[in-house]
Amino acid sequence: MSDRKTTQTDAIPVAKLSFWLTDARTALINHGETDVPCGECNACCRSSYFIHIKPEETQTIAQIPKELMFAAPGFPKGHVLLGYDKDGCCPMFIDSKCSIYEYRPQTCRQYDCRIFPATGLTVGDDKPLISQQEKRWRFNLSTRDERKLLSALQAAAKFLTTYSKLFPTGFVPGNATQQAILAIKIYDVFLRDDFMLENSEGSKQSHDIATAIRIAYEKFERGENNA
Ligand code: SF4
Ligand code: SF4
Repeated sequence: MSDRKTTQTDAIPVAKLSFWLTDARTALINHGETDVPCGECNACCRSSYFIHIKPEETQTIAQIPKELMFAAPGFPKGHVLLGYDKDGCCPMFIDSKCSIYEYRPQTCRQYDCRIFPATGLTVGDDKPLISQQEKRWRFNLSTRDERKLLSALQAAAKFLTTYSKLFPTGFVPGNATQQAILAIKIYDVFLRDDFMLENSEGSKQSHDIATAIRIAYEKFERGENNA
């Protein structure tokens, strides 16, 4: 997320999709930062996001007034959420910039709206500022391999959202941001030539794909399937 202001509509070129994907997956596995050329955009600080902060982010928590955070539902004790004001702005977004930029939460450091054009998902009508920004990115898809990668990412997102019932409850998140991140973690299942999407829910093959996705996810979370 950016500490600067304004939004634009012109297209923004991105390097090869494969380069971006490697960086995005590395940031996820290492809990690192993404390097988004946000320019003057700060849409994600003004888009009604609840920002998840983990207990180990002690320096971040120390910067935020206690009354602005509350226990994160469904998470162990110590995990908190930072809410937003009536205009959808993060309360730490002051004078058109992040007032705790140096100590901003890990969630903010990892946010990258290019996950939407990469997976074919959209952030949703409730976040129009990000929706405007996500349409601007243009990946370099000049080679067949890059286009194959895009197809795999988008097939992964489509499968997860279409066949969510094939997975245990909660495996497929309810919001587009987390769905896109999950697709990025397991997309390589869809590089396999033996897995096609034209199968009805409940077919043996869709169950096989769901099983392969769960295995790929576990490998990614163990750090065995990075980049
Ligand atoms: S919406 Fe995208 S470009 Fe804008 S601040 Fe967030 S990550 Fe950066
Ligand atoms: S903590 Fe800072 S970077 Fe994160 S949403 Fe709030 S203003 Fe934006």
